[in-house]
Amino acid sequence: MPVSGLPPYDTQNIFARILRGEIPAKKVYEDNFAFAFHDINPQAPTHVLVIPKGPYCSFADFSAQATDAEIGGFFRTVGKIAKDLGLEASGYRLLANMGEHSGQEVPHFHVHLFAGRPLGRMIPG
Ligand code: AMP
Repeated sequence: MPVSGLPPYDTQNIFARILRGEIPAKKVYEDNFAFAFHDINPQAPTHVLVIPKGPYCSFADFSAQATDAEIGGFFRTVGKIAKDLGLEASGYRLLANMGEHSGQEVPHFHVHLFAGRPLGRMIPG
């Protein structure tokens, strides 16, 4: 369900198509809650996208509409992926864009996982 006032979930968005196997992705991990794959245009040596399997447009949609099990399962999986990739010792950054001012491009909620070099300031400028 979309957040009130925002467009409904677009079943043809690129991440929905990746989840359905219609478009290839470099898979990192998958379980009941999440699918993780390498970003096609990496901004750091490690740049993984983690998406929930359910149809949520954004963090606003996911945090308001997903079940506690989906939310808990998803974020535990994000942590597990970072740990399994060996990123905890040197550290990593999580980022989720929501809506116009964030520059969110793909309308399926996703968390970016960046690592592999010092990542600089959180927000440039
Ligand atoms: P955002 O701006 O937060 O919506 O981020 C969308 C991200 O999806 C960008 O970092 C893109 O490089 C990435 N992206 C777009 N299409 C694909 C794709 N087919 N496979 C992997 N990553 C993609």
